[in-house]
Amino acid sequence: MSETIFSKIIRKEIPADIVFENEKVLAFSDIRPQAPIHVLIIPKIEIATVSELNGKLHAELLGEMIDAANKIAADKGIDKSGFRLLFNCKDDGGQEVYHLHLHLLGGRKMNWPPG
Ligand code: 5GP
Repeated sequence: MSETIFSKIIRKEIPADIVFENEKVLAFSDIRPQAPIHVLIIPKIEIATVSELNGKLHAELLGEMIDAANKIAADKGIDKSGFRLLFNCKDDGGQEVYHLHLHLLGGRKMNWPPG
């Protein structure tokens, strides 16, 4: 997998509004927010997309990402009102950056179905 801009954010070579970090995951505000709160939660290891995940192999990492999302939602005060978590996968899924990332969107009512 070729490196993406997110690897540079992990290494702090380019700036980002980091809202959470631990040994395994990093979370930062999306540069083009689609909601009042729009955070990307990424693993520090390079995984291109959801279809490269294996439930058993990556269970701990995915758990870390969900825990981070819940913590950020609580820190930002949207844990009671609710929020949306989503992965875009490849072209039809609308994926632009091929480093796995979980979108956390909140602070407004989300529409369904998504576009
Ligand atoms: P995707 O469409 O791949 O699911 O989402 C990629 C997201 O990364 C987009 O929402 C886009 O705005 C965001 N993004 C792309 N480049 C950067 C960047 O350099 N910094 C930050 N903070 N977000 C970025």
